[in-house]
Amino acid sequence: MVGSIFSMILELIGSESVTWDTRELHFGPGVPSSDAPAPDELESLWKTYYGSIFNPARIKLDMMTREMPRRHWATLPETEIIPDLLVDAPRRVDEMIARQEGFATSAADFFPAEHTIAALGAAAENCKGCDLHHNATQTVFGEGPQTARLVLVGEQPGEVEDSEGRPFIGPAGKLLDDAMEAAGLDRTQVYVTNAVKHFKYQRRGKKRIHQRPDAREIAACKPWVEAELALIEPDVIVCLGATAARSLLTPGFSVTKQRGRIFHSDYCETTLATFHPSAILRSPSPERRKELRDYLIADLKTAVNLLNTASDQQ
Ligand code: URA
Ligand code: SF4
Repeated sequence: MVGSIFSMILELIGSESVTWDTRELHFGPGVPSSDAPAPDELESLWKTYYGSIFNPARIKLDMMTREMPRRHWATLPETEIIPDLLVDAPRRVDEMIARQEGFATSAADFFPAEHTIAALGAAAENCKGCDLHHNATQTVFGEGPQTARLVLVGEQPGEVEDSEGRPFIGPAGKLLDDAMEAAGLDRTQVYVTNAVKHFKYQRRGKKRIHQRPDAREIAACKPWVEAELALIEPDVIVCLGATAARSLLTPGFSVTKQRGRIFHSDYCETTLATFHPSAILRSPSPERRKELRDYLIADLKTAVNLLNTASDQQ
């Protein structure tokens, strides 16, 4: 390798032109400058190259502007595409994370041989697929009959769920129970789970304040919810909140804009998303809380209608 680079350098010293045929470099005598690619062409080649080596997960704006001070940006062709690359970077990082590029572990490394809800739940107790197991009290796995036709997927256990080891049994669970009842759903017939199985929080004094799981944690935990859904094969899935919708539908899902609509997901022909009960509880005004609660009930009613249609077809 070193030898061939050395001979290439020697050749380069003795040559006056270099061409690349996309496989090999050719060194030769001098040619008129009109034979060289036009500056525009070079610039566009350079931008293509720069765009393809730009790693959205390694952006260091400080360093970039130190090494390439902004006063020179006008003379550098690649600076024209940097704003677009930066705008697109978070989405590209999300995609990389969803594909689990470069991550050592995920929940899948802790899977049991036997796939039943009970066996998966027991194996998840020992999961170390991401860092969240360090500070949480216990894994909170899904709960409900394996024969359930409807699965509700929340975000992650809250404070009460973390202490008790069961999903949706705290204040958010109470609101959800009431909404289910209003929509005509019997919770004992529904499988209830979360996108992430450990409670993520920040300690403030004695309090443990809920923190949203990040894309890395959601991706690491996804094999559990995927295995639950593969076993149950529900007719309808309702994602409660953006975290579940982003895990099961698309990374950029917006609950406000897309709630109540029916999507095909990898897990079920009829998957929808609605407001998370905790988001409803956190909403500052009573009017808005009522409005969001009505949306939740309406979306659960959509799920009931879909269930009825599915059972008519069987
Ligand atoms: N919020 C969730 O997303 N899940 C729970 O289990 C409790 C609160
Ligand atoms: Fe495993 Fe999920 Fe807990 Fe992370 S949050 S340790 S992936 S169970």
